[in-house]
Amino acid sequence: MIKGVIFDLDGTLYRGKKVIDGAAETLERLRNSGVKVLFLTNAATKSRENVAQKLTNMGLQANKEEVYSSSYFLARYISSKHKGKKVFVVGEQGILDEFREAKVECVEERADIVVVGLDRKFTYEKLAHALAELRDGAILIASNKDPTFPTENSFMPGAGSIVAAIETASGKEARVVGKPNCYPLELIKEDYGLKNEETVVVGDRLDTDIKFANCCGIKSVLVLSGVNKKSDIKKDIPDYILSSVAEFNLPLYP
Ligand SMILES: [Mg+2]
Repeated sequence: MIKGVIFDLDGTLYRGKKVIDGAAETLERLRNSGVKVLFLTNAATKSRENVAQKLTNMGLQANKEEVYSSSYFLARYISSKHKGKKVFVVGEQGILDEFREAKVECVEERADIVVVGLDRKFTYEKLAHALAELRDGAILIASNKDPTFPTENSFMPGAGSIVAAIETASGKEARVVGKPNCYPLELIKEDYGLKNEETVVVGDRLDTDIKFANCCGIKSVLVLSGVNKKSDIKKDIPDYILSSVAEFNLPLYP
């Protein structure tokens, strides 16, 4: 029996500024039947608070505790696995906000870790700075390697393109904390007492959402409202395919 549904955001519940038709009704229906609704996004540009606010403003009611943004799980990852280490951030305000809350120290030089998320003000200078820290021995941690993210009508470069630039310059490979890594699922299971067989993930990307579910041992639903089409399915196979989140209902049938 499914007790928790983890929704991806971009391409799944909204696309750019446009909410996917029927998304609000699906969330409400699940909550009314006692299912825990959670939001998991590789996006690191916003804090949990800001993501919850954005969703609520779009008519998709959400609170901070339901949101697992990569800004947040990066902060939890570093404060638990790299406690007391200093970080140089290539990223936006969301990461800085979550790091402040988790008491992760951000520095401009002599960092132990270079943390990378989507940074829409990324410059050659920042790339050079990250390279200098990495050459001095810092390790490289990334929110995700998503190559793109969907907007209303098109696509924009994702954090993965920035991570690739830093990896290429430094020759170091980034440790990815977001999907498809299982770390966010471990946090969700710990926080909500959910088991693998009680949890399903709903997302639009095969190489992150569906790969994440398959690697981490939970069921998955691919929605065709975002990045991937049915004909893209090759190695990351979803358990269920729906045209959009509007069709999502429990129990799930093959
Ligand atoms: Mg998505």
